[in-house]
Formats: sequence, structure tokens, C-alpha cells
Amino acid sequence: MEEPQKSWSDRWLDDNTILKDNAPNLPMELLDMPVIEFVLNGKWNSYFLLYYLPHDVVSQINLHPVPVEDARAWRFNPNGEFTLRSAYELTDNTAEPKVGQQAWRSVWKAPTLQRVRAFLCLMNHGRLLTNAERARRHLTNDTSCKICGGGPEMNLHIVRDCPFARATWADLLEDEPDSRFLETDGQRWSLYYLSGRSNTIDATMFAGTCWLLWKNRNDFVFQDKLKTHTQIQFNSRQLRDEIINALDQEKTVFVTGGTREQRQIGWQPPKQDWVCVNTDGSVIHSPESTSCGGIIRGSDGRFVRAYTANLGGGSITRAELAGIVYGLDLAWEQGARKVLLQTDSVTAKTLIENATEQHMHYSQISEIRRRLQRDWTVRIDHIFREANFATDHLASIGHSQTIGVHVMDRPCTSLLYWLFFDQVGSETPRFVRMQ
Ligand SMILES: [Zn+2]
Repeated sequence: MEEPQKSWSDRWLDDNTILKDNAPNLPMELLDMPVIEFVLNGKWNSYFLLYYLPHDVVSQINLHPVPVEDARAWRFNPNGEFTLRSAYELTDNTAEPKVGQQAWRSVWKAPTLQRVRAFLCLMNHGRLLTNAERARRHLTNDTSCKICGGGPEMNLHIVRDCPFARATWADLLEDEPDSRFLETDGQRWSLYYLSGRSNTIDATMFAGTCWLLWKNRNDFVFQDKLKTHTQIQFNSRQLRDEIINALDQEKTVFVTGGTREQRQIGWQPPKQDWVCVNTDGSVIHSPESTSCGGIIRGSDGRFVRAYTANLGGGSITRAELAGIVYGLDLAWEQGARKVLLQTDSVTAKTLIENATEQHMHYSQISEIRRRLQRDWTVRIDHIFREANFATDHLASIGHSQTIGVHVMDRPCTSLLYWLFFDQVGSETPRFVRMQ
């Protein structure tokens, strides 16, 4: 059989570009991926590519004819689709698994919250927006850590090497030898603890503590709020207990008011010929701020357009309703005529269906109803928050923008991760009341 072209290291593009030269963050374990793996449902998988490559290179790939998928295209996933998970499970069969592969698997399987896994994934890829990274992107000249004044503030500094982090870990680790904790490089370090090999700290606690240290650092940098290391230890133990309890639950649990069942929740693309508009609102209290965001995606899951909006003040319901108004406007403007609008606000959906003129948000509700009467089909669905992470992320960006609506014709970098997360069909468990 002919040797398949290697996507990252062969010169298969017309201009002889070698892709790996343009992908500084490419994990080692993806190097041998054949070109056919860049194709999803008969098209170049731009999200996957944009995660590692600059826009101009992805555009170059998009100009290249899509290779025909033959039967052996991707047989390692039962539904025939390429997913990172199946790629990693395949590469794991090699005689000497590389650290990078194992590190990825350990993150994917870590017994923790999905948002913590997402953080770990960014951490392992060196993609956290630390001061050292901000300096590299010419966003600042100051690479130092705001907590200790030392640095440079890189990933490992925040979660491990900063004196503040060291103090936090000290009690949690009890008598773990320092050499084990400090001598290895970042990927080996997280792999060791995430794969549950330590006797003093389990993977859930390890993952949670890294995440809480990162959150604490952000609270300090952006909001001037710093917890003590004892508080972080406490929060970390609490988070661990909550997660372990949730994981220990029977698949079906009985609670007052009915039976609940654990279900895997993830974003689903709309049917053929439809577009999906996800919207979300967000409120923070110090400083008081309201924002919303929305994403339009096609039936192949591809990004069409998105927006974020800073609304100033107001209630969460106002933000959710405003999110729906802007989302509908953008979809109409885009020429969409079959629209599935997904909101995670039961309140917003109920108000649109039932509210009367006396309601305090009636003017917004009537704006939405007026739009629904246009010559198009719009269905409004309620979805769980676990299926709306990408939009939740956009809504949270809105707070730091100028007042008004900001339309994105291309996804911003931080959104790429979540689009990719949705496109590969990632799911998060949730207890759902059974009908
Ligand atoms: Zn520091």
C-alpha cells in the first residue's frame, strides 16, 4: 500500500510549505498524522487547523483540493469520523508512547470538571496567557509575576514555581519528596500527577489545585483580589470532594421530586439547511456589568459569524433577551431562513412564548416577536449550559469590551478552543430530571 502523505512534515501544498514549521504549538504526537486526517465530512477541518496554524496557512490549505476519503480513511472511530480522542488512542499502541501522547490522554481522562480539563489542555500546550506569553506577543514589556514579583511568569511559574504556589502545594503534598515535585519538566510533571501515580495527591486534587492557582492569579491581576494559600487549599479540598461525590453517584439517583439520570451533554450541529444560533447572557457584580454573545454555525458545525456585546448594566434576563435579539438580527442579515435558536435560559424562552404587556421586559420581548414574524422559520430551543460553553465564553468577553455590539467575521483565538471542543463532540455529564 502506498505510504500516505504526512500532513505536517511532507511538502504536499502547492507552495511547498512544511506545515510543522508554522505550528510552534503542535504536539509531537500529531506529527505523523496523514493528510486525510485534516478532512472532516468531506471538507478541510478548518477549526482543527486553526488551532495550530496561522490564518494565511489555513487559507492556503483551503485552496488545495480535498483528498478523497477511501475506506481506510479513518477506521479507528466506530462512526468513521476523525476525532482527537481516536487519534490518541491509536497512537497509544506504539511501542514507546511519547510523553506528549500520554500527557494528552491523562488530561482527557482526568477525573475532574470539563472546564478544568480545558484549562489543563491549554496549560500543557503552553497556551495560557501568562505575562511571559503576553510579552512574546508584544502586549506588555513586563514579564514578571504580579504575585511574587519574580518570574518570568510562565505556565509552570503560576501553578508550581511561584513561592505562593509552593506554599499552597506544601500542605497538600504532605511528605512528597521535593525532588519528585520539582525536578521534572512541565509535561512530565502534570502527567505523573494526572495519571494518579503519586501516593500523596490524587489526579482530581492535582488538577483542581492547578486550576484554582490559575484562577487566583487572574483574580489578582484583573480584579486585585488575592486569596491566601490556605484558602486555596481549602477550596481545592472542597472541589475535590464535590467532584468525587458526583463521580461516585449511581447512574440514576432518586431525589425528592423525581428521578434524575446522568446524561452526557454536548453541543449538536443543526440539521441540513439550517443554521444554529447560540446565545447567552452574562452578569458580573464587581464592577457591575452585563454582556451577551452569540455564535452562528452551519449544519456541518462550521463557524459562520459571532458577536459579543457589552450592555452596560441590567439584569441577567435583559442580557439573555438582548442576546437573542442580536443573534436573530445577525442570522437574518446573513441570509439564514431556517434558524434554530438555542438559549440556555428557560426564563427567556418562556417569556418569549407567554409574557404579556405588563411584563417589565415587554419591549425587548416584543422586539423578538416582531423578528419571529418575518418570512423565515425560527425555532427556539432550550439547551443546557453544558452545551453552550462556546457562547458562554463569548458573553464573558463582552464585559471587557466597549459598550455596544461587536461582530466577528472570524473567530477570535480564545474562541477557537471552544469551537474545536464542540466540533469534536465533547460532552459533559449532567444530572437531568427524567420525564
Ligand atoms: Zn510568582
